[in-house]
Amino acid sequence: MSLLKCLEDFIPSESNVYSEAEMQRINIAVLKERGVSVDDIAYLAYNAQSKYLEDLTIEEMRDSVLEILRKREQFHAILLGVNIDILAEKGMLAEPIQSIIRDDLGLFGLDEAIAISIAGNYGTIGITNFGNMDVNKPGKISILQSKKEQCNCFLDDIVGAIAAVAAIRVAQKHALAKAMNTLEIEL
Ligand code: MG
Repeated sequence: MSLLKCLEDFIPSESNVYSEAEMQRINIAVLKERGVSVDDIAYLAYNAQSKYLEDLTIEEMRDSVLEILRKREQFHAILLGVNIDILAEKGMLAEPIQSIIRDDLGLFGLDEAIAISIAGNYGTIGITNFGNMDVNKPGKISILQSKKEQCNCFLDDIVGAIAAVAAIRVAQKHALAKAMNTLEIEL
């Protein structure tokens, strides 16, 4: 039995290793089933970065989110986090962790730890960016947190971390393009 409808007929590979395209497809399907779209994350990332980059477009951010969703770290984090959230939602964990996760206890901290492990792959700035999302809870993150019929203890942080790293990827690309331009002019 699968906790996720979108993975009901999924047959695992013998190696447990999946291609980037397959991980991306599963990530998008799982997020969608839990009420999060690629655009939701792209808008979080766009709003975090648009004040620094004049020529930033939402399409660019969407591409960045799609790229991040191809990676194994995100694949494992999304699957693990969402599965725990659903188990808590169904009351299938043992107490006292059942209530701690179901009620999203602020002192729990392991939801943020998983998110930080994603954000940390992109350097300290990734962790700072995620911290910002965690404190300010923009847009979709506060919507996820306030959903009472669904447990999003892990999901809200994972979504914040993906948005944070998507934003950094784009910022780094822009910085590099600018540096190359300057270099060309100097040469
Ligand atoms: Mg949380």
